[in-house]
Amino acid sequence: MSPCSKCDAKCCRYFGVHIDTPKHKDDFENIRWYLAHKDTAVYIEKRQWYLEIKNKCRYLMKNHRCRVYERRPTICRDHGVATCEHVGEDFAHDRMFHDMKEFDVYLAERFKGKYKF
Ligand code: SF4
Ligand code: SF4
Repeated sequence: MSPCSKCDAKCCRYFGVHIDTPKHKDDFENIRWYLAHKDTAVYIEKRQWYLEIKNKCRYLMKNHRCRVYERRPTICRDHGVATCEHVGEDFAHDRMFHDMKEFDVYLAERFKGKYKF
């Protein structure tokens, strides 16, 4: 039985967008701003940075099925158990920040306490 049949469609309850690797103060401040908002996260995976928005898809039905399955976006078609972070135990982001406070700890580490807020 596929893990999807026992899942409440976690993969349809958020989306992630690639963001530029932060290099300058403005970039770090933008990330702090993203993380100041509720239901966001920022993560690093294979040296790429992503913004995660925890907002469920408008086409997800109460039975955890897709209302537009036949015309769902390509990214949904390409996603499955093989790429699912909720299946198996060996999937982990290199680094994940759930709020501004966690990111500030990272900035303190990275800049050895010299980051100017
Ligand atoms: S791909 Fe993963 S998150 Fe999505 S329904 Fe299947 S098990 Fe759940
Ligand atoms: S379009 Fe369908 S498969 Fe894609 S996120 Fe929405 S509910 Fe899930």
